[in-house]
Amino acid sequence: MANTKMLHFIDTSQAQPAKRAVEERAHDFLEISRPFIIAKAEEQASRCSQCGVPFCQVHCPLQNNIPDWLKLTAEGRLEEAYEISSATSTMPEICGRICPQDRLCEGNCVIEKDFGAVTIGAVEKFITDNAWEMGWVKPINIVADRSGQSVGIIGAGPAGMAAAERLRIKGYTVHVYDRHDRAGGLLTYGIPGFKLEKFVVQRRVDRLEQAGIIIHRNFEVGRDASLAELQARHDALLVATGVYRPRDVNVPGAHGPHVLDALDYLIASNRADFGDTVVEAAQFDAAGKHVVVIGGGDTAMDCVRTAIRQGAASVKCLYRRDRTNMPGSAREVAHAEEEGVEFVWLAAPAAITDSGVSAQRMRLGLAGPDGRRAPEPEPGGIFEAQADLVIKALGFDPEDLPVLFGASDLAVTRWGTLRVDHKTMMTSLPGVFAAGDIVRGASLVVWAARDGQDVAVQIHNWLRARAAQGTEAGPQEASASAAADKRKAA
Ligand code: FAD
Ligand code: SF4
Ligand code: SF4
Repeated sequence: MANTKMLHFIDTSQAQPAKRAVEERAHDFLEISRPFIIAKAEEQASRCSQCGVPFCQVHCPLQNNIPDWLKLTAEGRLEEAYEISSATSTMPEICGRICPQDRLCEGNCVIEKDFGAVTIGAVEKFITDNAWEMGWVKPINIVADRSGQSVGIIGAGPAGMAAAERLRIKGYTVHVYDRHDRAGGLLTYGIPGFKLEKFVVQRRVDRLEQAGIIIHRNFEVGRDASLAELQARHDALLVATGVYRPRDVNVPGAHGPHVLDALDYLIASNRADFGDTVVEAAQFDAAGKHVVVIGGGDTAMDCVRTAIRQGAASVKCLYRRDRTNMPGSAREVAHAEEEGVEFVWLAAPAAITDSGVSAQRMRLGLAGPDGRRAPEPEPGGIFEAQADLVIKALGFDPEDLPVLFGASDLAVTRWGTLRVDHKTMMTSLPGVFAAGDIVRGASLVVWAARDGQDVAVQIHNWLRARAAQGTEAGPQEASASAAADKRKAA
């Protein structure tokens, strides 16, 4: 073998980091996996066959240099591995934790079929967690002074955070506005701690602020300022507001007192995890209750597993398709089943009553236009699922941003997402860009990070071109007083 450090998939089995025992993890909100020890990370990285055309990398939305950092890890060159890994990603340890790797990098690893994929996500998480511990994660390195130009970012989720970091590196003054009291978007208030502990997000937010990025918390655009007001404050704007309008179930009883929207439930749980006082806490607490969650995506998985941790008497997940056709990650379903969640496949709510959910058995019919087999009712197949708490987790649509922002010229698609020029990532309003879920619709953290990184390049190009045309002072020419004025206004 030419490279004795690599290609060990032949003699080394795939091993994910050990999971904590169900009896232990089902009672807390800490991550379920134990960290890799160094030797294990090196061993698992050495299974990579260093493909000439690495399909893992092709299918990673960030096109991470996976073979390179696996090789460096296998060789014990961990600081270099971190340098390579962080060159393409502003949040590698977050993606390593919560990407659905089975559908992305690992699902396309060439040794997956015969030997089991290289555990890419776990190694990625290890590399950067280790770098934080070793002090290798340096403050953001600002390479130029463009502080006379400022960019306003609406939304402190992964798209906004990634863009803020990349724009600050280029030297811009960066202001981030978020309606929540904490930054992080769904990393903070959607995704529960058992998938992503909050300190992991917080240290990234701290690093942004330490670099001079100004985060305005509890600032809701549409309430505290209109889009036009923010346009006047900044040279360019980025809208990275995510999608938050919950899809509803159109059945009788869908708005009963014991029926909750998934995100309200998860936000309350995340707040409790932070130690905040939760208003009407009892309503959001599944302890001792029979819980039915309707839906089959990541949000539904997070709800069922949260209910287990709150001490629910029973937890059922109703999904109208079957296991193989559900949108949620197979890995998450396996975790939920281990923790005691019962999945009721091919079942859709017909009505929500005081005692639970009247559900209709479904079967899969012919494939629809999207290629997926459409669920249809199984005649006569009504059954009852007992519930004191019903959680609706059917996905999210965009809010009506033109109305919310008081910006009727802000063009949207027929799905309500922001219409952008896909090359420049600019919306219909000059100098207003958009990225993340508000453009894609509900998607993934890794795509939001990618979009945030890309839009930073587009904003930089646009500001440079504008300065070159002489319509605005360029970075070097901007007067100190103009810079001070803008900072004061913001
Ligand atoms: P967001 O993360 O939604 O951030 C948008 C921010 O904008 C928020 O902080 C919001 O407060 C702010 N905002 C909105 N409107 C305004 C306004 N008017 N004024 C000021 N601020 C505003 N993806 C994965 O990859 N893996 C997972 O395991 C996973 N689990 C998920 C679990 C749940 C429960 C949910 C809901 C989603 C999950 N996702 C997961 C999807 C992922 O979280 C999103 O795709 C990602 O967070 C989108 O990033 P974003 O920056 O575009 O938006
Ligand atoms: Fe895999 Fe996600 Fe990491 Fe890319 S970012 S290597 S898809 S875990
Ligand atoms: Fe290594 Fe798998 Fe990527 Fe090939 S596809 S380079 S084996 S991780």
